Amino acid sequence: TWDIVPQAPPDSIFKLTAAYQADPYPQKVNLGVGAYRDDDNKPWVLPVVRKASHILLSDPTLHHEYLPITGLPEFVSGAARLILGDDSPALADDRVASVQTISGTGANHLAALFLSKYYQFDGERVVYLSDPTWVNHFAIFENVGIKQRTYPYYDSKTIGLDFDGFLAALQSAPGRSVFLVHACAHNPTGVDPTEEQWETIAQAFIAKKHYAIFDSAYQGFASGDLDRDAKAIRYFVRRGVPMLVCQSFAKNAGLYGERVGALHLIAPNKETATRVRSQLSVLQRSEISNPPSYGARVIALILGNPELFEEWKADIRTMADRIIDMRKRLHSLLTNELRTPGNWDHIVNQIGMFSFTGISTAQSKALIDDAHVYLTSNGRISMAGLNSKNLRYFAEALDRVVRT
Ligand code: PMP
Repeated sequence: TWDIVPQAPPDSIFKLTAAYQADPYPQKVNLGVGAYRDDDNKPWVLPVVRKASHILLSDPTLHHEYLPITGLPEFVSGAARLILGDDSPALADDRVASVQTISGTGANHLAALFLSKYYQFDGERVVYLSDPTWVNHFAIFENVGIKQRTYPYYDSKTIGLDFDGFLAALQSAPGRSVFLVHACAHNPTGVDPTEEQWETIAQAFIAKKHYAIFDSAYQGFASGDLDRDAKAIRYFVRRGVPMLVCQSFAKNAGLYGERVGALHLIAPNKETATRVRSQLSVLQRSEISNPPSYGARVIALILGNPELFEEWKADIRTMADRIIDMRKRLHSLLTNELRTPGNWDHIVNQIGMFSFTGISTAQSKALIDDAHVYLTSNGRISMAGLNSKNLRYFAEALDRVVRT
């Protein structure tokens, strides 16, 4: 019966991780993984998450009943305030339809499904994605019958933002097109627009009545400051750009496997938000019935308790600061000590978990084959995979492939 099913290729990131794990070389380095590692290259349970888990599990009234279809109410409202801001005009007007989702991936999926059903595409059913973007975006929209087109984003010549290309794409796309943008710490490039550039981008959205999907998977990770990393989103809300936000707590709370996230659709008024919420609930029911409770309870506890919230912010700064420190030290090794050919300023200018090194596919492959340094073929490295023990080894390996 299943003769027509073709063999699918393995997911490239998971394949890379498997190759790393199978490699017996003692100094091997894994820069493919999109998860935070501490200075000992270990997964890090945030101390505040440990504390909140302990509080939860010692509560004798805790049970395992279903959550409401749209999620744990105190999680959903806290998550909305966290991303949109306590002073959000949309929250004040009660015109945000928020639903708990299966982390950021689930938020993207539910958003895509909702748009596929209810967005009035003027022409083609298409979403514009940045070139490059998180590869899963393509599959997520493909699955709900929305075509994908890319807009210029990354300029390989400057290893920075192709701002003019991005803007031109916004201006030349048909009115009311749907554009997905990364809220901060763009994956995979680590290249974000400046505040001023965001203002110009918002203006282009308004002029063409485009719809914005904000994917926020790294709030706090970019700058170490939750509010600063939500600035673009909050600016778009204030300017009245029609939009929704996909929010993940995987990275900023280290809750990867617990699948904690939310979708927030900012509607023009309360009555619309109520109708939208009712349909998101209908879609959610047929997809997952009820979202998972454990991670949502942990986050709700942290968001609802000022003391725990302060501790969380300190934990986020611990992660962000370690990554920023790795950027500075790598930059200094390449530039001042090894005098590696080329300009490496992008290492410190890029933001968040990832850095696009600018090296070629062949050089990336040479790093794997000759130095046991594992990274994706586009030259992207996870800064979280670097630490005080492997930094010099990596810098010297990079220096070698650049010189040959
Ligand atoms: N969006 C982007 C841009 C991402 O990088 C990620 C994580 N790699 C996600 C969404 C979703 O992650 P998760 O489902 O684990 O929250």
